[in-house]
Amino acid sequence: MRSLWKDDEAKQFQGDLGLRVYTSRLLGRDKSLVLHGGGNTSVKIRERNLFGEEEAILYVKGSGWDLETIEPQGFSPVRLSHVLRLAELPSLSDPEMVNQLATHMLKAAAPAPSIETILHGLMPQKFVDHTHADAVLSVTNTKDGEKRIRDIYGKRCVVIPYLIPGFDLARYCAREFKRQGTPETIGMVLLNHGIFSFGATARESYERMIELVTLAEEYLGSKGAWSVAPGSSSAARPQAAAQAELRRGLSDAAGAPMIMRTLTNERTLGFVQHPQLARISQQGPATPDHVIRTKRTPMLGTDILRYAQAYGAYFVEHAPKAKEPKTMLDSAPRVILDTAFGLAAAGRTAKEAAIVAEIYDHTIDVILRAEALGGFRALSPKDIFDVEYWDLEQAKLKKGGKPAVFVGEIALVTGAASGIGKAMVGAFLERGAAVVGLDLTSGIESLHARQDFLGIRCDVTDESQVRSALERAVIAFGGVDMLVLNAGIFPASRRIAELPDEEWRKSMTVNLDANLILMRTCHPFLKLAPRGGRVVVIGSKNVPAPGPGASAYSASKAALNQLARIAALEWGADRIRVNTVHPNAVFDTGLWTDEVLAQRAKQYGMTVEAYKTNNVLRTEVSSRDVAELAAEMCGPLFAKTTGAQVPVDGGNERVI
Ligand SMILES: [Zn+2]
Repeated sequence: MRSLWKDDEAKQFQGDLGLRVYTSRLLGRDKSLVLHGGGNTSVKIRERNLFGEEEAILYVKGSGWDLETIEPQGFSPVRLSHVLRLAELPSLSDPEMVNQLATHMLKAAAPAPSIETILHGLMPQKFVDHTHADAVLSVTNTKDGEKRIRDIYGKRCVVIPYLIPGFDLARYCAREFKRQGTPETIGMVLLNHGIFSFGATARESYERMIELVTLAEEYLGSKGAWSVAPGSSSAARPQAAAQAELRRGLSDAAGAPMIMRTLTNERTLGFVQHPQLARISQQGPATPDHVIRTKRTPMLGTDILRYAQAYGAYFVEHAPKAKEPKTMLDSAPRVILDTAFGLAAAGRTAKEAAIVAEIYDHTIDVILRAEALGGFRALSPKDIFDVEYWDLEQAKLKKGGKPAVFVGEIALVTGAASGIGKAMVGAFLERGAAVVGLDLTSGIESLHARQDFLGIRCDVTDESQVRSALERAVIAFGGVDMLVLNAGIFPASRRIAELPDEEWRKSMTVNLDANLILMRTCHPFLKLAPRGGRVVVIGSKNVPAPGPGASAYSASKAALNQLARIAALEWGADRIRVNTVHPNAVFDTGLWTDEVLAQRAKQYGMTVEAYKTNNVLRTEVSSRDVAELAAEMCGPLFAKTTGAQVPVDGGNERVI
């Protein structure tokens, strides 16, 4: 492992807190050191307060911040003198510790300080870095982990047995630090948990972390336990239908829709083919705080009921031994291992599922390296239970209030790169859904760079392309719960007497046939939607009120309208709702350039303004207006509505 410190980068950060931000980000950049909110760092700074008195402030990572992206305001400024006084108490409950730290900070708006704050405060050095380095865990999570760690580090590290993070661990470390520490001590290993390093400067503390982790890596290398990537003999291909069924089962067990990401690659397939898979995968996580994301053990195979029963038994066994009464979490697995597809990772959002997948990817490394050292050994179920059901960890996950309306659900939008389709993507993302956008143009692939969006270039008139897009959607997110049929064409105005076959057919192919293909292909997935499937058809004012010169367009949209009404009848028993919006005169789409708009307005003898608001309400209708209505039609307001056609046109005299 190499130091990522660069003088020219470091120059952009000022003062001790600035450099604390910089080296925290350097730690965060290396996923084999810390993953998503894991690890924490601190710096002790002397500052003058409002009264002119000097006091020592402990700036410690606040909860909810990732080291990789932390900012100065991500550090909670706690009065060090109070932290040290707290440490003198014979005991301190976790909620009281949180309260004490929160009420002794310099900034009311600062985040809650890390649960390891007292530990950071007790360490005498100015800078303290803490990670859950894969290499260190690979060594500690073995039968004779402690001896190996002492062999590797000698006097350089104080060694602490596993204790749950909090007040007692902090006090224990302070005591052991005095007892075991020598002038050569630059770090501390917490068995089955992680490693600390210290230093007088940000760079020293960070580079000692790199040095210590490198020693563990070299040790693994010397024992033939470094390069252990599993290879796979078979190239399995996950089946979309089976994955969607699995995700439905997960959602039912979780009591809420879940996103499920399937990772079929040589590495995951190799791991699931490991002859000792049951033994090595069913012990526990690499470090306890992963349990919050991954649950204690992955599910082997696809029997969710059996997993849920075992999870219930684990709760019943350990909950009565806890100090306070515990409420059972949902019993759905978050990691699924199966020889048919490799690994699937589940979470309430696409981001969470991606985090679970990444954590387990690193867990595979830790397990295989520990195996190569002589046998992976995780903490006891009781130790893991205590972290999983720890009040403070629960509070961490619960903050944020009520989830957005479509969290855990997946929407598929056609014609998603521009106009109404693009606005639909935005409306769904804002409501918490994962979104798959299909479009003919390649711009769709880069429309949003975020975990909950997948843009696929797809010609929706080609059934094989639609099928493969659906497969990708299900592999990425686990299903399709909402379908928005938006892609369409609006040919130039032409009278029936002059209408070429080709133009007629093209309108029918894109506006009608493609939507039949999409509905047919999506039906099995919509049927599996945890909250029932929903289809929204973007129709047209031309359905109830056609205009001359638009026969191909109007006829294709009218036929689509009938198709949607019949789908509403046929699919009601499958709990799938099918509703239509009829927009009119939506001018902020690719079809309407300023030039065309001016031309059209002139044709009707109007100003552009008057032409845009030529409706009963004298209001302009935007893509966003259409998208908002269509998104709402998928939500609880329309839960009892199917087969409806709702205009979004500012009121049209001919329609009314
Ligand atoms: Zn930790």
